[in-house]
Amino acid sequence: MPPKKRVSAEKATPAAKKATAPAEKASPASKKASPAAEKATAPAEKASPASKKATPASKKASPASKKASPASKKASPAAEKATAPAKKATPAAKPESRTALVRRARKIDRELAEIYPYAHPELDFENPFQLVIATVMSAQTTDLRVNQTTPALFAKYPTPEDLAAANPEDVEELIRPTGFFRAKTKSIMGLAKALSEDFGGEVPGRVEDLVKLPGVGRKTAFVVLGNAFGRPGITVDTHFGRLVRRWKWTEETDPDKVEKAVGELFPKSDWTMLSHHVIFHGRRICHSRKPACGACPIAPLCPAYGEGETDPEKAKKLLKYEKGGFPGQRLKPPQSYLDAGGKPAPPLGGTPGDTTG
Ligand code: SF4
Repeated sequence: MPPKKRVSAEKATPAAKKATAPAEKASPASKKASPAAEKATAPAEKASPASKKATPASKKASPASKKASPASKKASPAAEKATAPAKKATPAAKPESRTALVRRARKIDRELAEIYPYAHPELDFENPFQLVIATVMSAQTTDLRVNQTTPALFAKYPTPEDLAAANPEDVEELIRPTGFFRAKTKSIMGLAKALSEDFGGEVPGRVEDLVKLPGVGRKTAFVVLGNAFGRPGITVDTHFGRLVRRWKWTEETDPDKVEKAVGELFPKSDWTMLSHHVIFHGRRICHSRKPACGACPIAPLCPAYGEGETDPEKAKKLLKYEKGGFPGQRLKPPQSYLDAGGKPAPPLGGTPGDTTG
């Protein structure tokens, strides 16, 4: 389903349902794998040296298949895809070649695009000003908490000029729920002042200008460029860094070096959606402490398979947000997300979903 990846989140189709449903149903892969599962297996086997050489993952993957319970007859394609392919993998001897790495990385992204065709930035925003402020506020907290806080902030201060001229104590009170509210008040008011004084009240659309703004680093700059200006950018947040290291796309830990290394594996035009796919996967399935390997559709391509829970039933219980049947992070998610069964996040003080990540 190649076109989906290229489609913007807003345009994503009901195919999203297909992607959501499997994970919710994610149960053990069956020995009686369906044609879909067989189809799913084939690409991994064909996936050149990457798959064949992925012995650690493959060897670890097999037990997951063997553990399959009777419930597996109902296994969804995604769940089957997650476990079935490992059995035919062969032991590896050589390190993965550069070509194989590029192929495997791109295959992972293509699979993620099928799993999350509705992937999107998880901060609510209506214009570049709101996005840059929300991104700065998202440090040390969840996007959900920022989304629950910004409606009142932007209702009171809709423009950079309004925010720059605000009483700091009023701003502190409004953004208190995001934590570090005094420091963040200083940051966002300083940013608003710079926007109104140096850029005529407009958010600049070039990385070299964005990083001159107080509190804006490359990560924030690329979030803004990619999502408010449609310019390609890789967003290396905590999820992105963790996952690409698990996948052995790079061993770098410095975000700028990770950005460069991963950027070399993909065409520029893929960068923004790649970032969303990876971050979506990190938040929903490949968690920091307990990755849900047994419910992970890209397990056959992952050298870190087995780092987390491999039992499909137990892994299923670790899934978050729409994959686990919980609300998402955005109060106003794109329609494609809702069409796929995603639920909007509750407002501040509403019934909480999962607030991690
Ligand atoms: S959950 Fe993460 S570590 Fe586990 S198989 Fe999936 S991508 Fe790999």
